[in-house]
Amino acid sequence: MGALTAAERLGPVRAGPLQVGRLDIDVVVVPDRQSMRLTVERDARVTATVPAGIDVAELISAVKGRRRWIYNQLDVRSEDAAIRPLKEFVTGEGFHYLGRSFRLKLVDEAPVPVSLVRGRFLMRRDRLDRAEDELIAWYCKRGRAWLPARAKPWIQRMRAPVQDISVRRLGYRWGSCHHDGRVNLHWAVMQLPASLIDYVLVHELAHLHRSDHSKEFWAVVARAMPNYVARRSELDKLGATLWLP
Ligand SMILES: [Zn+2]
Repeated sequence: MGALTAAERLGPVRAGPLQVGRLDIDVVVVPDRQSMRLTVERDARVTATVPAGIDVAELISAVKGRRRWIYNQLDVRSEDAAIRPLKEFVTGEGFHYLGRSFRLKLVDEAPVPVSLVRGRFLMRRDRLDRAEDELIAWYCKRGRAWLPARAKPWIQRMRAPVQDISVRRLGYRWGSCHHDGRVNLHWAVMQLPASLIDYVLVHELAHLHRSDHSKEFWAVVARAMPNYVARRSELDKLGATLWLP
């Protein structure tokens, strides 16, 4: 979503996306609210809940004043260093795919740098110096092959105008979407059980209807996935334990 023009900055704030520097803020207007509240959502979207009538300039300066806190929250979301596992690329190490753990086996010869064969991740020794990149590339490739068929019934049920769906490096977010219909999931999500990947997907598909985290947005999620609350809290727990170098 584009930045505001100077004229718009002078007016009262409206619900919807607002760009402040590099941050994309979702603005939610609650008429009977007394003060502004900033929250960093589980998926790293930043929401400003504001009273009606507050000025855009006032909101922007408040967000700027709390920028350090916001980036700290984003770092916590992305790292959770205390529980995130450190992996070693040695035979026997476990890596997850679709919720199951598979042991790594280093091999001298294989047609591709990384593969999942008969319940084992095979990695070629001559790629060990870039082992992380090779495995991440495998998750992206495998995810791109797996996801479209998985997504199809959700896309139909939610009538989501999806143009393209992909798996890639996404930084802070588990998923992202663009109003032109591009949907991306973070490669690390492919480590999760399929039911939780579904939640990330449904969340992004719902954003194609509503870009904010308003009541209406969660209603769209709930219609498609009535038990989304349980899945979301499971994602919060498991998401913090994913391997994320
Ligand atoms: Zn969201």
